[in-house]
Amino acid sequence: MPLFPRKSSRKPEPPVVIPALSPQAAAGSGNPRIIEVGKELLERARGHKTGLLSAKFYSDWLMEWSMKDPGFKVQMFRFVDAFPMLKDGEQIYTHLTDYLNQPGVSVPPVIGTALKAGALAKGMTAKIVSSQIEGMASKFIAGHDAASALPGLKDLWGDGIAFSVDLLGEACLSDAEADEYQRKYLDLITNLPEQVAAWKGQPRLETDHLGAIPRVNVSIKISSLSARCDPIDTEGSIRDLMRRIEPILETARDKGVFVNFDMEQFAFKDLTIELFQRCCEKIKFDAGLAMQAYLKSGVEDAKRVCDWARAKNRLVSVRLVKGAYWDYETIKAEMNGWPCPVWGAKWQTDACYERMVEVFLDACPRTAGGGGVKLALGSHNARSIAAAIAGLESRGLPRNALELQMLHGMADQLKHAAVEMGLRIREYVPVGEMIPGMAYLVRRLLENTSNESWLKAGFLDNADADKLLAAPSGPSPKADLAEVGPERHKLSHAPEGVGNGRPFFTEAYRDFSRSQVQEAFAAAINKATVPKIANDRTPAQAAEMVAKADAAFPAWRDFDPRQRASVLVKAAATLRAQRDALSGVMIKESGKTWREADADICEAIDFCEYYARQAVPMFERQRLGRFIGELDEQWYQPRGVAVIISPWNFPLAICCGMTTAALVTGNTVIVKPAEQTPGIARIMFDILQEALNSVGAPKDVLHFCPAPGETTGAALVRDPKVAVIAFTGSRDVGLDILHASSPPSPFSGGSAASSLSHIKKVICEMGGKNAVIIDTSADLDEAVLAVRHSAFGFQGQKCSACSRIIVVDPAGEDGPAITNFLRRFVEATRSLSIGDPLLPGTDVGPVIDEEAKAKINSYIEKAKSEDCKLELQMPLPASAGSRAFIPPTVFSHVKPNHTIAREEIFGPVVAVMHAKSFDEALKIANSSAYKLTGGVYSRKPSNLEQAKREFRVGNLYLNRGITGALVGRQPFGGFGMSGVGSKAGGMDYLLQFVEPRASAENTLRRGFAPEL
Ligand SMILES: Cc1cc2nc3c(=O)[nH]c(=O)nc-3n(C[C@H](O)[C@H](O)[C@H](O)COP(=O)(O)OP(=O)(O)OC[C@H]3O[C@@H](n4cnc5c(N)ncnc54)[C@H](O)[C@@H]3O)c2cc1C
Repeated sequence: MPLFPRKSSRKPEPPVVIPALSPQAAAGSGNPRIIEVGKELLERARGHKTGLLSAKFYSDWLMEWSMKDPGFKVQMFRFVDAFPMLKDGEQIYTHLTDYLNQPGVSVPPVIGTALKAGALAKGMTAKIVSSQIEGMASKFIAGHDAASALPGLKDLWGDGIAFSVDLLGEACLSDAEADEYQRKYLDLITNLPEQVAAWKGQPRLETDHLGAIPRVNVSIKISSLSARCDPIDTEGSIRDLMRRIEPILETARDKGVFVNFDMEQFAFKDLTIELFQRCCEKIKFDAGLAMQAYLKSGVEDAKRVCDWARAKNRLVSVRLVKGAYWDYETIKAEMNGWPCPVWGAKWQTDACYERMVEVFLDACPRTAGGGGVKLALGSHNARSIAAAIAGLESRGLPRNALELQMLHGMADQLKHAAVEMGLRIREYVPVGEMIPGMAYLVRRLLENTSNESWLKAGFLDNADADKLLAAPSGPSPKADLAEVGPERHKLSHAPEGVGNGRPFFTEAYRDFSRSQVQEAFAAAINKATVPKIANDRTPAQAAEMVAKADAAFPAWRDFDPRQRASVLVKAAATLRAQRDALSGVMIKESGKTWREADADICEAIDFCEYYARQAVPMFERQRLGRFIGELDEQWYQPRGVAVIISPWNFPLAICCGMTTAALVTGNTVIVKPAEQTPGIARIMFDILQEALNSVGAPKDVLHFCPAPGETTGAALVRDPKVAVIAFTGSRDVGLDILHASSPPSPFSGGSAASSLSHIKKVICEMGGKNAVIIDTSADLDEAVLAVRHSAFGFQGQKCSACSRIIVVDPAGEDGPAITNFLRRFVEATRSLSIGDPLLPGTDVGPVIDEEAKAKINSYIEKAKSEDCKLELQMPLPASAGSRAFIPPTVFSHVKPNHTIAREEIFGPVVAVMHAKSFDEALKIANSSAYKLTGGVYSRKPSNLEQAKREFRVGNLYLNRGITGALVGRQPFGGFGMSGVGSKAGGMDYLLQFVEPRASAENTLRRGFAPEL
């Protein structure tokens, strides 16, 4: 029997918001029979001897202390998460001390004593902690593979408890990993039936009211079966998933195995339901689907599945759970500014659970042969279970129409109570190695220690039965975090009358997991047309624009600052209204993929809204001090004519950010966009011009100058009337601008200096050679994906892109850490899809033009000639046609002196480098003259702290990707050869477009002053 003996490689619709449940509505589900059944279950459970085991779990020092000290719990669970990556006692000890030395953490005596003994007791400390964590893991994870879990499954069966086997896995990052999961599932489904065939019959476990049910039950997670499981592309994802799922389901059908689709994060919900339904319609297997009651869309989801099952005359099971990712969903929604998909209060989840139970019980067939839903309850909450049993009885359905399911290692006393009550109970049994098992273990630890946990209340706190079994009700939860975001975060001033009067908050990206969003976006981008703009303005025409802008300056300088701000707010509204169409223009003009284009326009809107709010207070006189008899004040004035020279890689966002910053601070503006992307810049210009007109702004405040950089651009920056130049682009052009705009030296001949009226201010953002350090304790599931996105998003054509990956491996350049990282990174990169950016599933589009392609190719050739090792250069698909594609390319064995480790490439080419230690990695990272972005993946707190101190870049990102800075949240910009000037989207950015003025007035008159 294999049961995967080969060594594992070590490893929508908008949520239909049902009306918030009121306490009254929930209390309406109060029913004496629920209390009766609940009490029976609870009493039997409390009396059962397995309760002692549960109590022991909570009394182990790690869990006990976790519940006493929330600070310890956070740090300890973080340590548990990192634990499997730690190779020896030394690493365990240093990481543990690091975590437990964080501020606000108290340490339990058992470990405190060992820690106090210091280095002498390293081995002992590591041993105590390792055995505790391994003990906990073995409580929730039944074995390292199915074969090792088999004896336990047999014992369970003997005790009258069925099972569903779940294969724990690392995140699936590549086709190779997806294939490996498929192999394991196939192995399980093929071999497990033979293994269990000889077990004694258990009629209660093998039949329900409609007939026989399979003995072998397997749970699968769809995300483990495709590296392209991305809800932005439903059809593409389903195609790739079906490729691997179909053989699994066909084997399951032939072997008589039940397969349940687990439900994962909300983003996958609609995709999972759609896939499940298509699979069921195509293959006649025993099918189950997990559905979550913590979703506000829970009841609608339940109705959708029931209606489908009836309509298709298909019998399926639904495992109703509350949901395992509550914290994640809450955090993710807040970060994205999306409405939270999960209920805000625990009682709402419980109430929704009971309402979903009703929907499913109504859909339960009474006789064999019909379509509908059989209900399985995935809960350890006696109230939730009792409500379902009462619902069953009130419909005259037999008890065996319902199945109870509980997790391995949890609520054993409830399981045995259920057996005693003649209920069919199944245990969900995860098997797998430590590394992939950790995410599951941490979810269980959080669940067991949560103050919201019914299990903890029922069996640890021994709460009163009436309280435990009461109908779900409670106070209305606090407002959705997305609704109160602006006030909660206060990212900007909130001047009265500017915009909505609230502080700035980042524009939410499109949630492409929603099918309506996808469809509207696809329709808009397909219709979009790129304005045809000739880059033909001459230096003479540019000089004329400057002269007009100079003449318009005094009136605009003295214009009401609030009105100037309202121009930006109006422009933001127009951008928002045309958002998807403008994405279409960028996709067609610059080759951005869907998400990249959407992020670009969000950033443009953000600049408008943010700078509008930040500018107004700058022009209000601020009093300094409160001296009686002396009025000291400071304020700012605009500088004059500003020239904006913008790049093609953020053709809207950066152009809009620099232009609006200059305008809102009272400067008149000439916009010279990149020659590659004048179309989107023209649209921006028209939008701003319309907004200027609407407030009666003076004529000639804003000019559009599409033109060649070498001639007209060069003339513009040299025009003596120009006061400010804001530039983003290459280092060489940036240096030329800095040089051209500096005043002549009075000591090098000529009298030019004496004719000057002002000195030009230059704001210059020039580029990067950004590194990400992968430390030994890095979470590779996350690091690989984030680095892949940072390196190849928009084809690597971002100044913030990752172009060096520095992997720490004490064992050398070919050691296990770097080899493992490279293997996963290369395979993950291989699964990217290259093609037409108009298609949702495309990850990598063409580079901007042939010139860029030739330059990037020359770096690839150089790397080969310098003996860097080419790990991957993906083949181009036939569909690439004649466009300028460069496939993602990975080199390893790159040394700091190699050209591709030093020079900015601006394309999808990444250099993987080796460092023996974290210190050495920092040294390599800092060795570049560019100082823009940098990243660290590490789970060692002191290394993260060291990076904050010593990794000298403008924007440092820890345990996340290094691109995609958000206005107001991650002010963006670097130093060294990355540029001069302060950060775009930050507090000081606008200060560069103004000059400070101050006045001091003596208010003392003949010995008296107003304020005394
Ligand atoms: C057999 C089985 C299979 C499972 N499969 C899946 C699966 O496929 N997908 C999945 O996501 N989960 C799955 N789970 C995990 C399951 O979601 C949790 O174990 C379950 O939510 C715990 O609920 P309970 O009724 O046992 O406990 P309770 O203590 O009654 O409920 C705890 C749950 O309430 C919810 N909650 C907690 N705090 C709040 C709050 N402040 N506001 C709103 N809601 C809150 C959360 O969902 C939390 O898990 C499965 C569980 C079982 C038993």
